[in-house]
Amino acid sequence: MNINDNYLNLEQSYLFPMIAKRVAEFKKNNPEKEVISLGIGDVTLPLPQVCVKALIKASQEMGQKETFRGYGPEQGYDFLLEAIINGDYKPLGINLSKEEVFVSDGAKCDVGNIQEILSVNNKVVICDPVYPVYLDTNIMAGREISKLICKAENNFVPQIPTEKADIIYLCSPNNPTGSVLTHKHLKEWVAYAKKNNSLIIFDSAYKEYIQDPTLPRSIYEIEGAKEVAIEIRSFSKTAGFTGLRCAYMVVPLELKGQSPKGLVSLNTLWRRRHTTKFNGVSYIVQRAAEAIYTQQGKKEIKEMISYYMQNAKIIKEELGKKFKVYGGENAPYIWLEVPCDSWQFFDELLNKCAVVGTPGSGFGEGGKGYFRLTAFGSRENTLKALERIKKL
Ligand SMILES: *Cc1c(COP(=O)(O)O)cnc(C)c1O
Repeated sequence: MNINDNYLNLEQSYLFPMIAKRVAEFKKNNPEKEVISLGIGDVTLPLPQVCVKALIKASQEMGQKETFRGYGPEQGYDFLLEAIINGDYKPLGINLSKEEVFVSDGAKCDVGNIQEILSVNNKVVICDPVYPVYLDTNIMAGREISKLICKAENNFVPQIPTEKADIIYLCSPNNPTGSVLTHKHLKEWVAYAKKNNSLIIFDSAYKEYIQDPTLPRSIYEIEGAKEVAIEIRSFSKTAGFTGLRCAYMVVPLELKGQSPKGLVSLNTLWRRRHTTKFNGVSYIVQRAAEAIYTQQGKKEIKEMISYYMQNAKIIKEELGKKFKVYGGENAPYIWLEVPCDSWQFFDELLNKCAVVGTPGSGFGEGGKGYFRLTAFGSRENTLKALERIKKL
C-alpha cells in the first residue's frame, strides 16, 4: 500500500501549537498574571435564543412518531434552501433556484471537498496572507500553487495576476487582514476568470460583518459571475454555529468546466458527489439555521455582530494611535503592522502585557511583520487588553 505522498509536502502547522506552548510557559512562570486572548478565531457569544428554541422544538419533533425524521434530502431541506434563497440572495437582486444551493456541515469541509470534482492538473492561485485551509487542501491534492502576495499599499486587496490560473480562491471580508473586495475588484476578477476559463471559489464566511452598504456581499452581484464562481458561506461566524456546524455552497447552473468530452456542468458533478458521499446536515441543525432568517433571528444576529464590531472599532481606534492598523471596519479582524518580526511582537505582547494575539507570519509569507487581533473577545477583556497595550 502506498500513501498519498502529497501529504509529505505539507508544512507542519506550528502556528497554534506554538502559541499554546508559549502561553502555557508564560502562565507557568507568571501564575499571578491574568492572560487575555485577542487571538481567538472562534466566536464567544452563545447561540441566538431563536436558534435554541428551534433546536428544542425540532428535537421534540424527532422524539415523536408522527414527526420523527430519518435521512433527509442530502442537499438540504426545502425550508432551509428557501430561507437562504429568499433571505440571503433575493434582497441583493440575485435569483437562485433550490438546485443551486447545497447545505453542508461547514465551509472548511466545502473548501476541501469541492476540489474532488476539479482536475489535479489545474493551476491554483491563493492569496497570501490568508485562511490556511485553501493552501493545505491543495497541497494534499498535489496541485501546482502560486501565491498572490497581498500588500499594504493595496490595502491587502489581491491584484489580478498577469499569468493564467485555473482556480482562484478569494476570501472577502478577509481572514486575517480584514480587507474587503469592492464591486470594482470583483468585476475585474470575474472578467479575468471569463477570459482565462478559470473558476473563482469565493469564501464569504464573514459577509454579515460588512457594515458599509456599498460593498458587495455576494460575488453574484457582479454580472456574469454565475458563469465563473462558486460561493461558500457559513453560519459559523454569522450566528455562532462554530460548534453546531452548518454552511452552504452555491454552485450555479451556468457554471461549466472543460473535459475531453466537452463542457460539463459543475452543478451536476457536485450534486453527484454530494449525494453520494454526504447524507445531509441534521434536521435539528437545519431548523436552527432556518430560524436565523426570521425577523427575531435577524434582530439577534444583528446585535451579536454589532457587539463584535464595536470591539473591533474600539481596538482599531486605540491601536491606531500606536500602530498602522488595517481591517476592523467590515470584518472582525484587526491587522497590525508591527515594528519587528511577528513572533518577536507576539513575545513582547505576551511578556509585557499578558495579551495573546496571532503572528501574521502564520498566515503566509505576506503576513511577515504583521499581527492579527480579533474582535471575538468580551468587551471587558478587550478594554483591559487595550489598557495594557497602551503602556507598551
Ligand atoms: C472560520 C472560517 C471558515 C470556516 O467555517 P466553518 O463553516 O466553521 O467550517 C471558512 N472560511 C473562513 C475564511 C473562515 O475564517
